[in-house]
Amino acid sequence: MVTKNELTAGSDVESRCLKCKQITNHIIVAMVGEKVAKVQCNVCGGRHNYRPAEPAGTAGVPKTAKKGKGQATGGRSARQTKAAADHFAEMVAGRDPALAKAYAVTATFKQGDLLDHAFFGLGLVVATTQPNKIEVIFREGGKILICVLEKPK
Ligand SMILES: [Zn+2]
Repeated sequence: MVTKNELTAGSDVESRCLKCKQITNHIIVAMVGEKVAKVQCNVCGGRHNYRPAEPAGTAGVPKTAKKGKGQATGGRSARQTKAAADHFAEMVAGRDPALAKAYAVTATFKQGDLLDHAFFGLGLVVATTQPNKIEVIFREGGKILICVLEKPK
């Protein structure tokens, strides 16, 4: 007997996407036996290992690398995070997120540009440092990114 609705490469499947931080539709790009191995997110286009939409018991819980000791993580309070988010909302008020340029190290940005970062999301270029650094405000705070800068006049 053959099951008709077997999943194959090219099928749609729901999977958890780490970039989108939610369950999104994915296309299966690779199978291992009868199991889905790799999928591509329809939303962000990211390829990653298949993560079932719902955790199946204790199996398949990814082991995350332990954070190194002595790293200053988690120092940011919830209040600071909210302040950063509010600040960000003010900065991009009235700006059209659709005009954001996708961030890449080879992309060109200048002060005032909106950018769309695959991981951090929407950001606003608030400062540039020659030859190749930009300071960007994201919802979660400021980051320094590398990119191509327009030559100073
Ligand atoms: Zn995604």
